[in-house]
Amino acid sequence: MLNNMEETKIYIKSILEKINNRDPYQPEFKEAVQNFLNTMEPVLDKHPEYIHENILERIIEPERAIQFRVPWIDDKGQYQINRGFRVQFNSAIGPYKGGLRFHPTVNLSIIKFLGFEQIFKNSLTGLPIGGGKGGSDFNPKGKSDNEIMRFCQSFMTELSKYIGPDLDVPAGDIGVGGREIGYMYGQYKRLKGYQAGVLTGKGISYGGSLIRPEATGFGLIYYTEEMLNTLNDSFKNKKVVISGSGNVAIYAVEKVHELGGTVLAVSDSNGYIVDTNGIDLSVVKQIKEVERGRIKEYAERVKGAKYHEGSVWNLDLKYDIALPCATQNEIGEKEARKITDNGVKLVAEGANMPSTPEAIQIYKQNNLLYGPAKAANAGGVAVSALEMSQNSMRLSWSSKEVDDKLKEIMQNIFKKSAETAHAYGLGNDYLSGANIAGFIKVAEAMRSQGLV
Ligand code: NDP
Repeated sequence: MLNNMEETKIYIKSILEKINNRDPYQPEFKEAVQNFLNTMEPVLDKHPEYIHENILERIIEPERAIQFRVPWIDDKGQYQINRGFRVQFNSAIGPYKGGLRFHPTVNLSIIKFLGFEQIFKNSLTGLPIGGGKGGSDFNPKGKSDNEIMRFCQSFMTELSKYIGPDLDVPAGDIGVGGREIGYMYGQYKRLKGYQAGVLTGKGISYGGSLIRPEATGFGLIYYTEEMLNTLNDSFKNKKVVISGSGNVAIYAVEKVHELGGTVLAVSDSNGYIVDTNGIDLSVVKQIKEVERGRIKEYAERVKGAKYHEGSVWNLDLKYDIALPCATQNEIGEKEARKITDNGVKLVAEGANMPSTPEAIQIYKQNNLLYGPAKAANAGGVAVSALEMSQNSMRLSWSSKEVDDKLKEIMQNIFKKSAETAHAYGLGNDYLSGANIAGFIKVAEAMRSQGLV
């Protein structure tokens, strides 16, 4: 007869084997599931019913994965074909909710990893939203506005068959901001009629929520503030490095500066700029949001700033806080060592899965406080859910109302993760705390709904 702990180990191993057999060519998805399974032992020991009802095998399988052709015509009149995806991962606690990513690296593995993470992130917000994610291998870089519009219209012509305000509500992610959401929303409306709640991240004049553009970046900083509070500390006088210079990074910089910290560096996929006087956000916004240019141009405009090719995590400089806000697996073992050598005491993730498992191990070995993505970057989807509420109620909340709610949600996410870690005897392991707290709510909903 096996005891609970042995049974748990065998069960987790069997799930890992299944995923390796079924999805051998999905490295990002396997990494996300493995990171999650690594934290499930304590909760399964306590709840053998999750093993008996095979919750883990059910939860790692998307309810539906849709792949489709996206034909469009470029400015030269050439026919172009991209691949579109929507993975509707889990609707146990609400309609599928999660962004759309337009980036040449997008494939089923990346969309499944993002959709899987989204299940637990959305659960942690305390709001009634399930998990999903989508996108395309379309590269928006260098495309004209007309090309972007034609692509978005073609993408939505197919996607519109599968989404709806009470069914599946996409939003933005890498390569999808206000411009793209606007074009997709316009096309959805032509096809299906007016339904404000079908997409979030809309413009303010047609049903968007105030603070949605800021939400992921601001939310990340509110969450990080809670981590700092546990050390009786704050952002005041802290030196911070942020990767990326897109939506999440920009508003993280804004909030760090508002709270008295200094952001020394930001980046893009080519390189990074260091400005020891503190990043001038108006210059970054002009380059990235208005001109859609490269971060390199910052050094040409701001005296004293320097541009370097490569990853910002190779930077040799003393600082206190690292906030990865670009993409998955941007911090590997080498970068994590560099970060700790630079004297960093806290890492909190704005991007999804930016730290590899090896990097997370190094944070642990060096006692860094670590705020995992699914908790720390949940502010974006939380305000998206608030946008859905405002659309349903046909009213708009003020910036202050939304910002106050966002702050409260981020504080609650931190509290829930920390309390759960504590209850399972895991100290300040916020990754396990977030995984367990997010998981239990979804698992219980699935159990109540029978064989789903
Ligand atoms: P944006 O497209 O606005 O910006 C992405 C930034 O990351 C750009 O600076 C981009 O540089 C950089 N980047 C992208 N890919 C790479 C790469 N392979 N290597 C290095 N840098 C790269 O996206 P967001 O700011 O919206 O998203 C950033 C991260 O945050 C993603 O992981 C996303 O999933 C996550 N996230 C976003 C949310 C949101 O509300 N937008 C919500 C929760 C999480 P370049 O311009 O050179 O490509």
